[in-house]
Amino acid sequence: MTTPLDSFQQDWKAFEQAHVWHPYAAMPAVIPPFAISSASGVRLKLEDGRELIDGMSSWWAAIHGYNQPVLNAAIQSQLGQMSHVMFGGLTHRPAAELAALLVQLTPAPLDQVFFADSGSVAVEVAIKMALQYWHAKGHTNKERLLTVRGGYHGDTFGAMAVCDPVTGMHHIFSHALPKHYFAPAPHCPLSGEWDDAYIAEFRALLQAHHHQIAAVILEPIVQGAGGMRFYGPEYLQQVRTLCDEYGVLLIFDEIATGFGRTGRLFAADHTGISPDIMCVGKALTGGYMTLAATLTSREISAQISQNGNPFMHGPTFMANPLACAVAIASIKLLLESPWHSRVAEIETQFRQGLEGCRGLPGVRDVRTLGAIGVIEFDNPLDMGWIQPLLVEKGIWLRPFGRLLYAMPPFIISDKELNKIITVMAEVTHLISHNHE
Ligand SMILES: *Cc1c(COP(=O)(O)O)cnc(C)c1O
Repeated sequence: MTTPLDSFQQDWKAFEQAHVWHPYAAMPAVIPPFAISSASGVRLKLEDGRELIDGMSSWWAAIHGYNQPVLNAAIQSQLGQMSHVMFGGLTHRPAAELAALLVQLTPAPLDQVFFADSGSVAVEVAIKMALQYWHAKGHTNKERLLTVRGGYHGDTFGAMAVCDPVTGMHHIFSHALPKHYFAPAPHCPLSGEWDDAYIAEFRALLQAHHHQIAAVILEPIVQGAGGMRFYGPEYLQQVRTLCDEYGVLLIFDEIATGFGRTGRLFAADHTGISPDIMCVGKALTGGYMTLAATLTSREISAQISQNGNPFMHGPTFMANPLACAVAIASIKLLLESPWHSRVAEIETQFRQGLEGCRGLPGVRDVRTLGAIGVIEFDNPLDMGWIQPLLVEKGIWLRPFGRLLYAMPPFIISDKELNKIITVMAEVTHLISHNHE
């Protein structure tokens, strides 16, 4: 009789495909995943020896690239002390130091830090904070959220309920999800004249339902996995004013935008305003370990905690010391690096390199912000031939829906970025040719 371990020994990839589930994939996966044996700098090494230039930063996270000596050393050093202890009743210096960095770098009133173990959980925590805040104030009917279409906030049920109802596939879970309010996706451009029409429907929803609304939740400046759309800071300034006017909290989900990706340390820094609650994750540990955090103000934490009331959340791996240690090292490495000028250079290179794709048949839009380059098509991309072709050409991108996009590690060289851009343009021409 062959045991599972025997089958694994005989052909581990076949075993993997038959037994291991992948993100947003059928089981077994329609396109088998590519096996990676190691990664270093901006290169992913395939099992068969080929190397790919990484254009994804492992979903926004690996801003310093892979196998980074300083980050490796931070984990190794912490490993010698302790890899984990429970956070209930115990604490440690790495958690405090990481909190100090986050409080220092995020907008002013945010100085209370709740560590979570993934981005989705950080969003759950943010939502729970907002609800518990209003509950503590005696507004027990403020239990809904207001958000915009085209958003992505994670895959757990609370987070999923504020994702775009169409791309988030709400219909499958429509009876299981809490019902929230959705304004249209912001279509205010990154710069240019403000038009009051941009915010009209959002304002109307707030006006009509603010008695039920605890908080507005948004991804500032960049809507990531919901469509890679960019929008202007003035929209967020208007949202801030409206939230204050109607007594509604404002949550910024900076899990994708945080740590320099948009050209500012946080997307909030484009706006000059502060949210009441903010989530960070993804690049927090430089892509080394799973860790996220939800920050809020002292006013909100004090309200929730009146009469010593606890905040009702506490992940088992809260503030994992290894993750905190590598997050501290990653943030310091970022701050010591010329990240600001580097991200600006990446933006310029994307802008110049992708411009030639604009206007091609089947291409709806080309857009760039910070270290993000996006080509949006009229029709969904056929991953069946595009994914293997990208690998064939030596780069790692993971297109989704109608989007071919890249968000490389900041340490990518001009030459490597040029390769990514060239391949993106080649693939765009092929898609465009098929479209005609
Ligand atoms: C990725 C992401 C999340 C979810 O984070 P996970 O760590 O995958 O749970 C939430 N919000 C935004 C904006 C994200 O990009």
